[in-house]
Formats: sequence, C-alpha cells, structure tokens
Amino acid sequence: MFNLILFGPPGSGKGTQSEKLIAKYNLKHLSTGDLLRSEIANQTALGLEAKKVMDKGELVPDEVVIGMISTAIDQNPDAKGFLFDGFPRTSAQAEALDKLLDLKKTSISIMLALDVSENELIKRLVKRGETSGRSDDVNEDIIRARITEYHKKTTAVADYYKQFDKVVLIKGEGSVEEIFDQICLQIDNII
Ligand code: ADP
Repeated sequence: MFNLILFGPPGSGKGTQSEKLIAKYNLKHLSTGDLLRSEIANQTALGLEAKKVMDKGELVPDEVVIGMISTAIDQNPDAKGFLFDGFPRTSAQAEALDKLLDLKKTSISIMLALDVSENELIKRLVKRGETSGRSDDVNEDIIRARITEYHKKTTAVADYYKQFDKVVLIKGEGSVEEIFDQICLQIDNII
C-alpha cells in the first residue's frame, strides 16, 4: 500500500491537491474536516458537538477523530492506499494512526508538508469564506485561531514523522499545477 499524509496549515491547499492526487494515484481520500462536516450536515450528536469546537477554530478531541479514521479505514479494506488530509493533527493522533496502520500490516509511506506564508494563508481563507459557506472561514479571528492552534499542536506532527525520515517539504505557493507537479515528483520517487 502507498499511504500519504498531506500536511500543512489551514489554507495551504491540502484539499485542492488531494482531489488531484486521489484521481492520479487511485488513493482513498480520508479528510477528517470533510468527515466532520458530513456529521454536521447530518445533524448527528457527534456533528453538533464538533461544530461548537470547530466554530471557535479549535481542535475536536483526539478520541473523536481517531474513532472516525479507524472506522473509515475499516470501511475500505480494498483500498490501494490512503491519502490522509487534515489528519493527524496532534502527536497523539499520529501515534494512533501508526497503530491502526500497523494492524493492517502497512505504514505511512511519506508526509508531504505544504509550506505557505502566514499572510498568504489568511488571504486565501478570507477569500474562501466569501463562497465556501464554511462557518470557520467567515471571520479573521477564527482563521487566526486555527493558525494558532496549528502552531501550538499540529507542527509537532511533522517532528514526529521527521524522526522516521518521512517528511518532505513542498513549496505551497505558485500555481495549483506547479505545486501538483512538485508533489507528484516526490511520490513518483518512492513508488
Ligand atoms: P482547515 O485545515 O482548512 O482548517 P479542515 O477541514 O481540515 O480545514 O478542518 C476544519 C476543522 O475541523 C478544524 O479547524 C478542526 O476544528 C476540525 N478538525 C479537522 N480535522 C481534525 C483533526 N484531525 N483533529 C481535530 N480536529 C480536527
């Protein structure tokens, strides 16, 4: 199996690049943000609880997202590989993911980390908020809170995978196609 983590702060382009990557490499896309938004749309108990946290720009509890990912992995026994987008976001999530993949006799192949300046992130998210309908994109305070949460809890995830030499930095500014080509180059290098 080929298992990829697409990593980076909110607004770094993970969603956009994921769509292109799953088509090219036939991977199963697992986005915890999308899974949570689908729980919200279906007005489940989990979704209603999660929305309160998400609208503050904070992280949903580890056990909630780990449970969702575990279920999603089990629901896709025939997947050729997974693309993890927005997960793991804490060291505890990274350790849990390693254990889940271990049970499947597989592991993370590579983490590609999109690097984008903070000004550019805020610009992109404010613009996305004009059309996305996402309640966490509507004001700059929530956007800044998400970026703060990223620095506080999520950057440690890159350090976790660095100890296994699995992290490659990708310049996340430029055209969508340019960035996609850089990502594909790294993937083609190892598959
Ligand atoms: P973005 O990365 O652009 O902020 P996402 O769709 O990945 O967007 O996430 C939106 C929100 O969903 C996050 O701010 C957080 O509240 C919640 N969330 C998503 N993934 C996770 C996760 N792995 N752990 C905790 N919370 C998460």
